[in-house]
Amino acid sequence: MSPLEHASRAEIDAYQNAALKQLLAYLQANSPFYQRRFAELGLEIADIRTTADLMRLPTTSKQDLQAHNWEFLCVPRRKVAEYCSTSGTLGRPVTIALTGNDLARLYHNEYLSFACAGGQPDDVYQLLLTLDRQFMAGIAYYGGILKSGASVIRMGPGNIAAQFDTIRELQPTVLVAVPSFVVALVAHAEATGFDLNASSVRRIICIGESIRDEQLQPNALARRITEAWDVRLHSTYASTEKQTAFTECSHGAGGHHQPELLIFETLDESGQPLPAGQFGELTITTLGVEGMPLLRYRTGDICTYYDTPCACGRTTRRLGPIVGRRQHLLKYKGTSLYPQAIFNVLNTFGEVAAYVVEARTSDLETDELEISVALAAGVDETAVLDRLRAALRAALRVLLPLRVQPLAQVLARQNPGDSRKPARFIDLRRPRPPFE
Ligand SMILES: [Zn+2]
Repeated sequence: MSPLEHASRAEIDAYQNAALKQLLAYLQANSPFYQRRFAELGLEIADIRTTADLMRLPTTSKQDLQAHNWEFLCVPRRKVAEYCSTSGTLGRPVTIALTGNDLARLYHNEYLSFACAGGQPDDVYQLLLTLDRQFMAGIAYYGGILKSGASVIRMGPGNIAAQFDTIRELQPTVLVAVPSFVVALVAHAEATGFDLNASSVRRIICIGESIRDEQLQPNALARRITEAWDVRLHSTYASTEKQTAFTECSHGAGGHHQPELLIFETLDESGQPLPAGQFGELTITTLGVEGMPLLRYRTGDICTYYDTPCACGRTTRRLGPIVGRRQHLLKYKGTSLYPQAIFNVLNTFGEVAAYVVEARTSDLETDELEISVALAAGVDETAVLDRLRAALRAALRVLLPLRVQPLAQVLARQNPGDSRKPARFIDLRRPRPPFE
């Protein structure tokens, strides 16, 4: 456990203020990118004393990282231990280079995350995700689990029958998986008569997709799992650039912040920080990172945070689910919405086997949408489509264009390139100027 998890707000602030000053001195001394940026803006880092002064510092965008990737490296190349990369689903992949100390920090972060999710040294974790392809989260989970004293089974993604063989054979207590893949496990168990509730699995750490709605209630994905399987679901949220996770405790009231590893802000459209409860762009500053530390990095993820006390006793702030990506905001027939809001409705329909939402720019420079769904075998297409249209209209207050396509075509559309993750939203709109 980290001492800051139960510290007062004043203690957390004091820690972060000192860590911020240390970070700024480190960037000034070692980061070619930030040296140049500070000089261009005539910034004196001595003027920045507390996290409240962060607003006086510039933000860093994904475009900055893409255009000047190696200028972010603060150490000589020989000190790099591992090169990770972003998935590239949102443009050109970015390399994040980690030193040995950064790897130790990454594992410590995941050790604290899994402890927050109730992890014990006698747990056995089955990892249903990739550990290669420069995927940072895979090695983070692996290292964090080993640090906790628990055991790990590296199964990788897919291969449902083998996942069940391992559950039978090695009796894992925790799965780490993408929740939509857990839904596929549930369907397989139902089809083959495997008794999920007689299995050894007690908890599932859900990665990559949200399992809660904006009110922190279980969404359709989560309900589909827990209605069939008596397991506790924990959401965890992270990204390669952050090198830090937000993970839910057993009260499921948002992912706990780790204040010794990260400073976070939520910013409105004009870059002003928002209070708890309001939705803005998550902007992060890494603490304790040696290789490629980031200052006020705009993640593009829209969410809110909570600062009320958590029933688990931790005093740290908690991050709510990501409601959308900033650059994915759609303006359709006068209504603003994120693709996630469409996913939330489609996910409640068991008859929908797969779907993809595509956006294009029309001749009139407005957003055009097309939602392609593949339906499960044997369902009444007209009836399901009528109910789908009505549900989308009720939730989003706009009539959205829907069409039915064969499953293979929808799956192919989800993977237009050689992406690490299938995409449910394909943005074919003409690019807009980046936010400054
Ligand atoms: Zn808690």
